[in-house]
Amino acid sequence: MKTSAFEAYHSHLQRAAQILRLSKEDIARLREPDRSIIKTLVVERENGEKVSLPAYRVQFSNARGPYKGGIRFHPEAGLDEVKALSAEMAIKTAVVGIPFGGAKGGVGFDPKGYSKKEIEKVARAYVRAFAEDIGPDKDIPAPDVYTNPEIMQWMRDEYEKVIGRPAPAAFTGKPVEAGGSEGRDTATADGAIFVLEAYLKKKGLMDSTTKRVAIQGFGNAGFNAARVLRNLGYTIVAVSDSKGGVHKPSGLDPEEVNRVKEEGRSITELYCKGSVCDAKKLSDDHANVITGEDIFGISCDIFIPAALGGVITGENAARVEASVILEIANGPTTPEADAILEERGIVVIPDVLANAGGVAVSYFEWLQNKKGEVWSKEEVRKRLKETMEHAFGEVFARAEKEKVSLRDAAYAIAFGKLLAAPLGKK
Ligand code: NAD
Repeated sequence: MKTSAFEAYHSHLQRAAQILRLSKEDIARLREPDRSIIKTLVVERENGEKVSLPAYRVQFSNARGPYKGGIRFHPEAGLDEVKALSAEMAIKTAVVGIPFGGAKGGVGFDPKGYSKKEIEKVARAYVRAFAEDIGPDKDIPAPDVYTNPEIMQWMRDEYEKVIGRPAPAAFTGKPVEAGGSEGRDTATADGAIFVLEAYLKKKGLMDSTTKRVAIQGFGNAGFNAARVLRNLGYTIVAVSDSKGGVHKPSGLDPEEVNRVKEEGRSITELYCKGSVCDAKKLSDDHANVITGEDIFGISCDIFIPAALGGVITGENAARVEASVILEIANGPTTPEADAILEERGIVVIPDVLANAGGVAVSYFEWLQNKKGEVWSKEEVRKRLKETMEHAFGEVFARAEKEKVSLRDAAYAIAFGKLLAAPLGKK
């Protein structure tokens, strides 16, 4: 049976507990969230139909600061997944050393089947349902899968209506013109690349043989990573989305792929219309169209999962042809896959470090809102680079010292910080 996301968290906890020699009591404290709140949102659709949607907010830990974490709108958003993601947020904020805890939210529905007006109603209903539980010093939500800056702005507006006063710091990931931070849109990809390059430098691998990249997922995180890496001289040899992908060893142009995506088409349509592909163009470009599963076996130096959780599994880990996996998606590698990759000498730069740039810049946004400041893009980038490189240095040193994986080292560091925090012994 497939390991659930929350079981995967417990597996990481067990491994880190051995490194830290944690007592049973400490392990018990780190196993479950502080609170899981489940509500039902009743929303009237444009045709007059009333739907009841399950809504979640899981507050994992505020030992190190206010709860913090995104809200996901997805048909499969359920309690197990939201609990796992809330735990990962608590780990992430501790790994990068920002004074927040961890939380996550979700609404179980498919936003692709809803109009913009209806999505706004869901967003506002979510805030009314959880208004008592969130707030700038209590629990600060942000965007996640299928939520975005505009939705954060609706949520902030609804929250301010409920409490009757301005509260810009109650949500992060807002549009820049509405109190959001410069650089938040590219923060996750930028942060991941700062960490990747710090790793390659440490290993003396910053030469041409380490520059071929394959990316699964071409949304906000995947596209920005592809664009920045290409500008840095890396070759993007393959990318995929939910419909399949393209492999082009001489290198794809991320901007060209993005143009196709922006037109609402899939990546394979760079070469194909439906199931009919342009054989001459493919041959001229020495390219081929691949399935979603093929992306795992592409010969490359760096593989970046930037789509969904649980995609690198016990079944496909043996086919991975990269030497480094940079986890931009949350939880892309199952514990079974981790063991196989470790045995094969494939280094995994874990999500709780690699994708923490998003929450780091969320913290910068919160600080700017609290202090009434506006930082430039350059300032945000400089602070992000310092934050990510410092966190990487700590994780790398711990992994070397304990002779463990970067993931185990990151979790050990985070659990140590959580247990040492004033409320951590609660
Ligand atoms: P997004 O919704 O913008 O993009 C998701 C992409 O994944 C799309 O290109 C979609 O086509 C693709 N996809 C969906 N199913 C797929 C499949 N089966 N195979 C291949 N591709 C598939 O989301 P995003 O913001 O880019 O986030 C991507 C991942 O990164 C998620 O796991 C998210 O939790 C994680 N993450 C994002 C941020 C952020 O700031 N954006 C921060 C931390 C973690």
